[in-house]
Amino acid sequence: MKEVFELASTGIYSLGYLIKYAERKGLKTKTGKHLGKSHLYNVLTSPTYYGQFYQDGILYQGNYEPIIDKTLWDMIQKALKNRSKPKVNSWDTDWNGLAYCGVCGCAITISNKVKHFKRTDRTVTYSYAHCTHRRGDCVQPPIPVKAFGQMVLEAVSKITIDKEAWTLGVQLLKEKHKHETNTNLNQLKNYETEYHTYQAKLNKLVDMRANEELTKDEFMVQKNDVLKEIAGVEARINDTKLSARSWLELTEEYLNNAFNAKDIMQDGTAEEKRKLILSVGENLILKDKTMQFSFKQPYDVLLLPKYRTNVLGD
Ligand SMILES: [Zn+2]
Repeated sequence: MKEVFELASTGIYSLGYLIKYAERKGLKTKTGKHLGKSHLYNVLTSPTYYGQFYQDGILYQGNYEPIIDKTLWDMIQKALKNRSKPKVNSWDTDWNGLAYCGVCGCAITISNKVKHFKRTDRTVTYSYAHCTHRRGDCVQPPIPVKAFGQMVLEAVSKITIDKEAWTLGVQLLKEKHKHETNTNLNQLKNYETEYHTYQAKLNKLVDMRANEELTKDEFMVQKNDVLKEIAGVEARINDTKLSARSWLELTEEYLNNAFNAKDIMQDGTAEEKRKLILSVGENLILKDKTMQFSFKQPYDVLLLPKYRTNVLGD
């Protein structure tokens, strides 16, 4: 249970995701039922877990061992508040430029149309996703933002993985990671050897200059050459170390995205959604009211059974 509290405090995960997580860990309600969102919400907001309880509206200090401390509890309350901010209209601008028109290639943008109903004195705003028509006449019809969002949701949700695919994905990543790490390590070794060679060269130049085998000018020219080489090798060493790290980060992001895709698309903030779409997909094309969507590597792996058998075969 403590892990669920900790995950909740990050503010990254939706209630739906936290429930799934809790159930994977075998957590259920006292009566053995599945957790519901409102139940979990009550648990996360109840002071009982950090050692206090309400009786007749007054907060008392309990004399039992609390599950979490007050600091974590405060973080959870803040995270919950941030997550429950209204997200409805923020979709609009966050959609801009994500997709392209399948006929003329222009960007899809969102426009609002305000309609006033005289009889009931009501104003309603309609949001539409449509082609910008920058390249002349395009007859692609606008579609309501809601339908547009639904199409992207369905597309992105396809990479939400079940436990089996998850295991295979992890295996594949480990394989790739091993390969990547080995290549990196070999490269690093070569660069380090090179680095030592240049250092030795530099030392030798200093000795030669001390023995007056080189004039001052000769020494300066040759020393500068060697220093340039050393700087180059140092840069390559840093790059290699950096790329090893970014691969790890990528791996982590990959696993998180694949696991949470559907939850993020359903309950995430506009920013989370946009980030997810951009990191997993490319070439979002809107044509004749349907969405074409390609998954970036390695997300496409989750969709191709052919690829999965390769992983198992290894
Ligand atoms: Zn168009």
